[in-house]
Amino acid sequence: MTVMIDGRGTAEKIRSQLKGKTEKLKQQGLEPCLAVVLVGDDPASHVYVRNKKRAAEKIGIKTKDITLPANTTQAELLQLIDELNGDVTVHAILVQMPLPAQLDENAVIERIDPKKDADGLHPENLGHLFMDQPKALPCTPRGIMVLLEEYQIPVAGKNVVIIGRSNLVGRPLAALMINADATVTVAHSKTKDLQRVASQADILVVATGRAEMVDETYIKEGATVIDVGINRLANGKLVGDVKQASAVTKAAYLTPVPGGVGPMTIAMLMQQTLELAEKSNS
Ligand code: NDP
Repeated sequence: MTVMIDGRGTAEKIRSQLKGKTEKLKQQGLEPCLAVVLVGDDPASHVYVRNKKRAAEKIGIKTKDITLPANTTQAELLQLIDELNGDVTVHAILVQMPLPAQLDENAVIERIDPKKDADGLHPENLGHLFMDQPKALPCTPRGIMVLLEEYQIPVAGKNVVIIGRSNLVGRPLAALMINADATVTVAHSKTKDLQRVASQADILVVATGRAEMVDETYIKEGATVIDVGINRLANGKLVGDVKQASAVTKAAYLTPVPGGVGPMTIAMLMQQTLELAEKSNS
């Protein structure tokens, strides 16, 4: 029987702890504030931003919303980030990705003050992570580590295979796993014999953006499978990168989609906002 890892419930638990923490900070005269910058009309981005703002509201974190038109220039966006960097009432800045094609995402991330880096994707913060001296952390990988901890799934000494090498998920997760003493393989679209590589994993993380590409032939009996993917099918159904009905024949633990990694990403964003606010005060 596969244990379905309850990301929604775990995130809810974390959010209620964060609510108490936020109240305490407010009593000390510090009102944590997350600036959320959304550029353009991407429908999925609007949904993500709405969910993040809702989560912040529930916890009592203030949000400063900035929505810019799709034809915003790089100079305009960088100027806005400079203003937010200089605003002492803003503790964390999130720029929702992807950005319209005329904008350089890496340059935007690099412009955010690393001390206000809500997503933990600034090169300085990624560098600290790779040196095992983490400061702000990327939210999705962090959420995965918290889920494993919550379910007492050991990482040290385990074979971890991550399919996907993006800056957002695969690469930083590899660093977190190495820091947690796992033996890590990062696979990608050029990996040869992916099924054989994946089926060595005690913990298999799939972050490819390919709907239901991983079935039981990729999974070792008794493995933990973390499905990061969020894919909307033509019929409107939301599915992960793992074929759930097939994976449950092999996996001991599996994250569902929706309700697995997704809610944890948002919970970690909230946690990071509070941590950055606290640090700004010390
Ligand atoms: P990217 O497109 O940036 O990266 C995808 C990675 O998967 C690349 O490294 C690519 O390889 C690899 N890949 C693609 N196809 C294959 C294949 N057939 N075989 C092996 N490897 C493959 O995606 P992201 O990392 O940003 O996101 C991945 C998924 O996770 C998406 O579905 C996204 O929506 C979801 N996501 C979910 C989040 C959550 O909170 N739950 C947060 C962030 C993302 P190569 O490098 O060689 O091209």
